[in-house]
Amino acid sequence: MKEFLSMESGSSLPYYNSKLLHLKILLIVSILVLLVSCAPSIPTIETVLTPTAVIAGETATEPPVQSEPQPKPTIAPFRFVLPTPGAEPISGWRPPLYPVPWAVSTYDHFYFARPIAADNVNWPLADYRYGGVFFAPNIVHTGVDIDADEGTPILAAGAGTVVSADWGLYTEAPGNQRDPYGQAVVLRHDFGYKGQTLYTVYAHMSKIIAVVGQHVETGDVLGLVGATGATTGPHLHFEVRLGENTFYRTYNPELWMAPPQGWGILVGRLTDEDKNLLHQFTVEVRPMPSEVPLRTVKTYAEGAVNSDLYYKENLVLSDLPAGLYKLTFQYKDKWLQYWLDIYPGQVTYFTFTDKDGLKVAAPPVPTLDFLPGTATVTP
Ligand SMILES: [Zn+2]
Repeated sequence: MKEFLSMESGSSLPYYNSKLLHLKILLIVSILVLLVSCAPSIPTIETVLTPTAVIAGETATEPPVQSEPQPKPTIAPFRFVLPTPGAEPISGWRPPLYPVPWAVSTYDHFYFARPIAADNVNWPLADYRYGGVFFAPNIVHTGVDIDADEGTPILAAGAGTVVSADWGLYTEAPGNQRDPYGQAVVLRHDFGYKGQTLYTVYAHMSKIIAVVGQHVETGDVLGLVGATGATTGPHLHFEVRLGENTFYRTYNPELWMAPPQGWGILVGRLTDEDKNLLHQFTVEVRPMPSEVPLRTVKTYAEGAVNSDLYYKENLVLSDLPAGLYKLTFQYKDKWLQYWLDIYPGQVTYFTFTDKDGLKVAAPPVPTLDFLPGTATVTP
């Protein structure tokens, strides 16, 4: 277990260090008020507390962003400081991925390989997940960010055709060097899902290598990691779009990228007493036995993010080594805790409702309109 913890050392530090760390964290957090942006949308300048190396997975990551006066929107390039590599240790590792397409249940769709090779960090930054709000109020993150050095090759996550390879993806203005996506490539894949077309987006490239019209296979190099667009730290912003190649039709890439072998995925739907989804609701996930959270994750914010057609989730945490986990969260002034198992290569799905608490179960059987061939097809 110790080995396991040290593998995830960015967030599961030895207990005897934690008090000192908390003090350090408080100090660091209180002085690090940094301007960030990566949001693929009309940028709005806002100050937030940026996660630092030691606070991934700690509760101190809440960005108290609401108190600042709302500045007027601007598309000026601004600075975004990513967490240092310590947040997700560069020396960390993952087992090899399951082959794609990977689907244990009928309704899984881990169709994509990872857009960064396995000899590099190729998993989403813990604190910049899909559906989070990091950059400005009401601007949610429509993809995942993968930390990588400038110049790291960006790989096609699946076979497809290059439909866009330029600046200007968000602003729909080819050549616009002020576009928040920077230099980006979009693939339209050879395969779809439920009768709808699948696209993947690769943003912030330092160099585009793919050309429009080119057909690529999984693993072909599309470009190089950079920091173009609304970012300063080199990283890959990766999106999965379904049905239409638009910012408004993204889905959580953590439900589309094959998991590492032996590891699983936690998926949840958390609702309040009115059966509405809980937004930006904090859940601590810790492997057992451990007193330290592996991750502090939040449910999706309200905005331009979509839940899976089947799971209708508002929380996803991928890349969890199989085993027993404890979930802890505060609901209506009460601290609740639940235990659940993560299985190799599988989704563990849970619901939390005001009435029934947390239940681990398969999602409801899909309705007729979900079945293949009957879903609405968007050109
Ligand atoms: Zn991003």
